[in-house]
Amino acid sequence: MMVEMSIGSIRLLFLCILTAIPANGQLQTGFISIDCGAPANFKYVDLDTGISYESDGAYTDTGTNRNISSDYAYPNNPNLPQPLSDLRSFPQGNKNCYTLRPAAGNASLYLIRASFFYANYDGLNDPPQFDLYLDANLWITVKFSNVSDIVTPEIISFASSEAIYVCLMNIGAGVPFISALELRPLNSLTYDSEYGKPASLLLFQRLNVGSTKISGRYNDDMYDRVWAPYVSPSWEAINTSLAVNTNENGYEAPPEVIQTAARPRNASEPLELRWTSSNASDQFLVYLYFAEVEQLQKNVSRKFNISWNGSQIFGPFSPRYLYSATISNSKALVGGEHRIVIYKTADSALPPILNAVEIYKVRLLDELLTNSEDVNALLSVKTTYQIKKNWAGDPCGPKKFPWEGLACNYSSSIPPQVIYLNLSSSRLNAAIAAAFAKLLSLESLDLSNNSLTGPVPEFLEELKNLKYLNLRGNNLSGAVPKALLERSNAGLLTLSVDEQNLCGSASCKRKKRIVIPVVSSVLSVMALFVTLVVLWQLRRKWKSGTVSTNEGGRYLASEKRHFTYPEVVSMTNNFQTVIGKGGFGDVYLGIMNEGIQVAVKMLSASSSQGPREFQTELLVHLQAELLMRIHHKNLVSFIGYCDESNNMVLIYEYLAKGNLKNYLSDCDSRTLSWESRLRIAMDAAQGLEYLHHGCKPPIVHRDVKTSNILLSESMEAKIADFGLSKVIPSDGLSHMTTSVVGTTGYLDPEYYISRKLNEKSDVYSFGIVLLELITGQPAIIKAEMAVHILEWASPFIQRGDILDLVDQRLRGDFDESSARRAVEIAMACAASTSLHRPTMSYVLPELKHCLEMELSRGLERTAGPRDEAISMTVSTSSPEILSTNFDSMSAISPR
Ligand code: ATP
Repeated sequence: MMVEMSIGSIRLLFLCILTAIPANGQLQTGFISIDCGAPANFKYVDLDTGISYESDGAYTDTGTNRNISSDYAYPNNPNLPQPLSDLRSFPQGNKNCYTLRPAAGNASLYLIRASFFYANYDGLNDPPQFDLYLDANLWITVKFSNVSDIVTPEIISFASSEAIYVCLMNIGAGVPFISALELRPLNSLTYDSEYGKPASLLLFQRLNVGSTKISGRYNDDMYDRVWAPYVSPSWEAINTSLAVNTNENGYEAPPEVIQTAARPRNASEPLELRWTSSNASDQFLVYLYFAEVEQLQKNVSRKFNISWNGSQIFGPFSPRYLYSATISNSKALVGGEHRIVIYKTADSALPPILNAVEIYKVRLLDELLTNSEDVNALLSVKTTYQIKKNWAGDPCGPKKFPWEGLACNYSSSIPPQVIYLNLSSSRLNAAIAAAFAKLLSLESLDLSNNSLTGPVPEFLEELKNLKYLNLRGNNLSGAVPKALLERSNAGLLTLSVDEQNLCGSASCKRKKRIVIPVVSSVLSVMALFVTLVVLWQLRRKWKSGTVSTNEGGRYLASEKRHFTYPEVVSMTNNFQTVIGKGGFGDVYLGIMNEGIQVAVKMLSASSSQGPREFQTELLVHLQAELLMRIHHKNLVSFIGYCDESNNMVLIYEYLAKGNLKNYLSDCDSRTLSWESRLRIAMDAAQGLEYLHHGCKPPIVHRDVKTSNILLSESMEAKIADFGLSKVIPSDGLSHMTTSVVGTTGYLDPEYYISRKLNEKSDVYSFGIVLLELITGQPAIIKAEMAVHILEWASPFIQRGDILDLVDQRLRGDFDESSARRAVEIAMACAASTSLHRPTMSYVLPELKHCLEMELSRGLERTAGPRDEAISMTVSTSSPEILSTNFDSMSAISPR
């Protein structure tokens, strides 16, 4: 005897009379019944169920009302439930949501049912496919087997906030739509189990055993559940006409469900339920309903045990006459194949019975809803400015679909917070709303190019985490508050405001314009003067012949020296081992007298780069090393040089694992873990940060790329190749106008056009390097037509498809939030305008945070899941304590 089930939608047969009468809704306490796509402000009672429906205008502000094709509508389809005769479709935006605010509020349990009837409403005869989300978590992918398929997924979930969001996501397979949406409050003590993690229950099967007709729905079922009839051919249906007491166990099976039951035709056989799931990691909860419907003779007993996949999980148990009991497993059943057997005990005279069964798939709630203060602040901003963006559902969730112009900080333990808000060119008018100051985690706020008026408000100072604020292109009056200016001067905040807001009045504009070029040219002269002094000091130092000393195998700044050509020949064993080829020429392995390995870079006669670059590299090193004491663990140490008889040689510390480009290239079988990639990115960021902010005057590398990031034996990354570096004035705001140099794919587009160089050009290149580390793709992807990595990545990023964007060789072995954050950093660095790029000082802690996220995942993995035993619990309407035996299983494994 068995019930064969497979996962699929339960198709409902609604019996309903098409009519529209005023709603009463008196008894349906807490019900929300929405006929999606019904005319505005329309209310009616469905005569078959007595349920009051209303149109959906109060629950969503996007989408369009559509009617199904007349072929599938009344009168051609006389049994069609009225809520399914129309629908709301969402041709615009990736994420469209309904917001439900149930009267019982949060921390209450609800049953939510969505209905979808395509019925060729768009005349395309091609049902779409789309994702349905409850709050920030995937509920189900809605698919149809044919045009007339009705899909009705149902979920039981605790509300974690006052608002419940049901969202339809466009996944590129047609326009999402919805026909009806219903919410029913449940008894919060039911449908509960200990998972250790918050979860929802996705309806898999709900069967009224021993019945032949569809039952339930309101009024019979106070929770408006729908029970499908089921009797196996090898089962015999039995029933009672007497009332069964159900109202004390909370599950409240409707009378017509609990009054019917089935027993095996062959009294010695068990009752068996089987189902399969294509995913072996699926978790199920089962609710078995029992009530004795036959009055048994004295001394005649009905006693049975329950097993799952061969192991007893409950029993012995005797259902009580006319009292219902609901038995459920306290820990989910995990596996692809499931077999529940209800079998009589040896001393039982009668075979087992079963009145009803519900099976739910556990859906873990991995994503939390956005911090409520942030939600309130954003809703206030949305209302104040009547924002026309598609701001629906939860602002940060799901991670794949945050609100447009928003980025959030995600963690597995605390609700996401908004860290980035871009409302540039969003037609904002009136004053800057105080609600902005309530977004306490905000790091970047862009309100540029709107029509904002009034003063730059003091309350913006409350945003302590703010690192970037753009108020340009508005009609704001008065000066920027002092605290913001101070933070900007201290380098803690990148402030972009119109000139009148810097000095407090429009009249200072002209003066300011005159001042800036004067300052710039003075600085240029000063920079030139500093360089000349540096070179002069350098010559003197070298002529005096500094003696090398070695400390711990590392070369210190004072050790740099000149090598003769014969020394170079000797240390490279006559240029025996080539370790790399670059624009200069070949790079050889050398061994110095002390036995220390070095990289020897030769300038070949045919080099595309000339003596000028060689000189530049040399001079920059000498300036930096000797006078500005450049020495950093993430910059390849410069050891010496040779410039005899047209032989130009540069000697560097040797990095045994070569360059990052090779490591990331397709043909290299060594796959870098996500953690290693983040560590490399951090090392490179530290090297650059030192050049930009640790050196005075600052140095711009100008050729940051994966082939210039070298890896030591212990996989420490160092930046190499100073051939193109420039020392720039240290005023932090200025730039140098130079001839454009760099490598295709890494070259800052703004610098390329303007020829104005500043540290942000390196930041751009670093963004490309980071994207290469994330994706494993080169900066220029050579397909039929060469594609830049930013262009290649952009569709994935737009879809929020991080899993497919990240290097597939990692096989998903990384923390998704960490990767998502890293992508955000890379994209911020590679912003087309330098103003929008962060500094390396900002990037560093961000990367550190990514690494922390990845490392904490590692810890979770090591700790492993709790290994708990399965048992079943009983919830009964009987006042008598049942004799139960909670047997446990030690191993849970799918067959
Ligand atoms: P270009 O000069 O065109 O920018 P490049 O930066 O790759 O190209 P080089 O700096 O000459 O050229 O280096 C060429 C290759 O030699 C590097 O990619 C690396 O594999 C190897 N190499 C360079 N310096 C070292 C070093 N210090 N230790 C180990 N390998 C090195």
